Amino acid sequence: MPPLLHFWKKYRLLAWLSALLVTGFLTTSIASYIVSRDTIRRDIAEQGLPLTGDSIYSEIQKGVLQPTFISSLMAHNSFLRDWILDGEKDTGRVVRYLAEVKQKYGTVTSFMVSERSHKYYYAAGMLKSVSASEARDKWFFRVREMQQPYEINVDYDLANQDAVTIFINYRVLDYQGNFIGATGVGLTLDTLAHTIDEVQRRFNRSIYFVTPDGKIVAAGRAAHAPQGSIYRLPGIASIADRIINHSTKPTQLAYRQDHATVMVNSRFIPELGWYLVVSQNEREAVKPLLRVFAMNLAISALVTLLVLMITLFAVNRFRRRLENAAAIDAMTGLLNRQAFEFVFEQARSEVPRKQQALSMVLIDIDLFKLINDDHGHLAGDTVIRGVAATIRAAVRDDDVISRWGGEEFLLLLKDCPLGQALAVAEKLRHAIAGQRYCFDGKQLSVSVSIGVAEYAAQESLAGFFARADAALYRAKGGGRNRVESADPGQSA
Ligand code: GH3
Ligand code: MG
Ligand code: MG
Repeated sequence: MPPLLHFWKKYRLLAWLSALLVTGFLTTSIASYIVSRDTIRRDIAEQGLPLTGDSIYSEIQKGVLQPTFISSLMAHNSFLRDWILDGEKDTGRVVRYLAEVKQKYGTVTSFMVSERSHKYYYAAGMLKSVSASEARDKWFFRVREMQQPYEINVDYDLANQDAVTIFINYRVLDYQGNFIGATGVGLTLDTLAHTIDEVQRRFNRSIYFVTPDGKIVAAGRAAHAPQGSIYRLPGIASIADRIINHSTKPTQLAYRQDHATVMVNSRFIPELGWYLVVSQNEREAVKPLLRVFAMNLAISALVTLLVLMITLFAVNRFRRRLENAAAIDAMTGLLNRQAFEFVFEQARSEVPRKQQALSMVLIDIDLFKLINDDHGHLAGDTVIRGVAATIRAAVRDDDVISRWGGEEFLLLLKDCPLGQALAVAEKLRHAIAGQRYCFDGKQLSVSVSIGVAEYAAQESLAGFFARADAALYRAKGGGRNRVESADPGQSA
């Protein structure tokens, strides 16, 4: 049998068992991992990101509310209107007013631009003149034409090192309702940035704004937000169109990046004209699950190993018992015929390699029927057991003795040529003849006839045995209580 097939036959049960256990453990581990991961994903998508978006949006609304109110008060302030209508005399007065507003309400900037002179006043004086041809002054000309009383405009503030600033641009009207200028305050995203930083740090979320043309405006101080245009960034580009969707309703999106899913929640913030994007890479959230998964696998492997070891132990013990039960003759404790055949096959397969002679000694008790007839079967049994013990005591430990038939014994002598085997047989015959077996107060004795044969290469057990049997037959015919040697066997 090829070794692999042999191995498979021997360990088939274990292989099936481990396959079953491994499959079971893997299935439950993977299933629980997937379920937990999906739950985490759903939590992020349905709760984490939208709630963050909500809180940031409400922060923005809160932040914009008061400045809008202040700007409205400024636009309706009669001093300011009169000062413009009076021809903008004494710049110091309007500058004092703007500085007061800025200081009192803690805004980043306060400003007023006159329609007549196009002069831009702020808390520290007159900054510049606005011009329709200047890109960064466009807002003024837009406000001049607009229908609604004010707008919120996110822009860079020249008076403030070009910091990103939210301007509330309020139209100033004269008493007849004609446009005479624009005024208002500017605020930074500072408090917002604080909230954003907090959320980014605590939840590993990244928060940023996207202008309608796709440019990312970083939010927060330690923003690890991507930079550039969302249309050109790998991953996000695939959902860019769905981020810029002109909908104030939060949209839940996702994209793949570095073999992980990034969950995205996007919404349009009308106050800023920007899209607020809150995103989270699921990897951080899923990391603990991977640890649990690995632990599960380790425990499963351990349990599998333990089960296998226990099974192997139990099966081996059971098998040994079975083998013993099947191999041993209960009456004499010698090998039975089946076991002998097995042992013989093994010894025979070793003959060519070991180059050693192998001999067989076939022993039959003489006139055994008489013992049975004269003293009963129990006496016969006692004699059989006694002869078995005598044989065992007389031969080497590694000689194989079997009870071949009722009162026949077969010895297999390894590394023993015919001559030696004959000597062993003679010794046995002598020992048995000299032995007394005690039964029911009687001393019984028997003699044996023995046939001896040496194994010829390639011979079958049947052929080998037949020669020994023929020799035994001759011993019986020759008057019993003697040893006969078999004819040499023919190599097959
Ligand atoms: P021979 O010298 O020709 O061998 O004469 P024999 O009487 O021994 O003849 P044979 O070997 O043919 O007879 C064996 C007898 O042994 C027949 C059978 O009833 C008896 N026998 C076989 N097994 C047992 C056993 O386990 N116990 C007892 N008590 N007798 C057995
Ligand atoms: Mg017999
Ligand atoms: Mg006999």
